[in-house]
Amino acid sequence: MRWLFFFAVLFSASAAAQFNLNKLLDTARNVVKATSDISEPDEIQIGNDLAARILGAARLVPDEGMQRYVNLVGRWVAAQTERPDLPWQFGVLDAPEVNAFAVPGGTVFITRGLLERMKSEAELAGVLAHEISHVVRKHHLKAIQKGAQTALAGTAVSQALKTSRPEVRDKLVNLGAETYSRGLDKSDEFEADRLGVVIAARAGYDTYGLPAVLQTLQAMNAQDSALAMMFKTHPAPGERLTALAEKMQPTLDAYASQPQLAERFAAQAKAAGR
Ligand SMILES: [Zn+2]
Repeated sequence: MRWLFFFAVLFSASAAAQFNLNKLLDTARNVVKATSDISEPDEIQIGNDLAARILGAARLVPDEGMQRYVNLVGRWVAAQTERPDLPWQFGVLDAPEVNAFAVPGGTVFITRGLLERMKSEAELAGVLAHEISHVVRKHHLKAIQKGAQTALAGTAVSQALKTSRPEVRDKLVNLGAETYSRGLDKSDEFEADRLGVVIAARAGYDTYGLPAVLQTLQAMNAQDSALAMMFKTHPAPGERLTALAEKMQPTLDAYASQPQLAERFAAQAKAAGR
């Protein structure tokens, strides 16, 4: 299934859900307001539901070795964060488009199209570290929670989850799907770039992995349809590179001599299927 179409499907499902969420609100209106956030088990469950929906529309590359390798790299990188104990898992989607995204709770997807354009494990680690940062900082979860807060007219999401759990969870998943077609706030993307560089450095990689991928994207034709979703949901690569250089230049340079592992990447990520 084409990537844009795939997101269009997710989006149309969520538009209908938005309406239902408003209806649900009538039944939840008298619930006592609570202020606590969505719990970690709920965060993981919402993420799993989202991941299941994604995998219902796009399949994983049928290459066990490649999937295992990307999981090894991803889990090692995730282990360097302040949320090492989430059930981290990583999947390469069998799609020619250039994209990567994370769902709450620790599932990260990267497309075959993006993996094929990478040259080293440091680049892979850099991209995964960016996605992992979205999970660590709960960017998508907060966007979902914000959308739900509006629809629930002030009733805390955590409270609504307690009263009518399956319905509310379903609506949250639909709101989540919507955030993937619209993209996060630019500030969240820049934060994920900065934190991603730090995490990749901690994991022992050349910190220029992520900037190198951004340069690859910048060099591609912006009209290339493979980039449509990435460019719709993220600031332009040039803008991200400038923002990184402004805030992170000393960190980038301090760890630039750490390994890139280009050969291991070539052997492991590109071995099968081509
Ligand atoms: Zn991002």
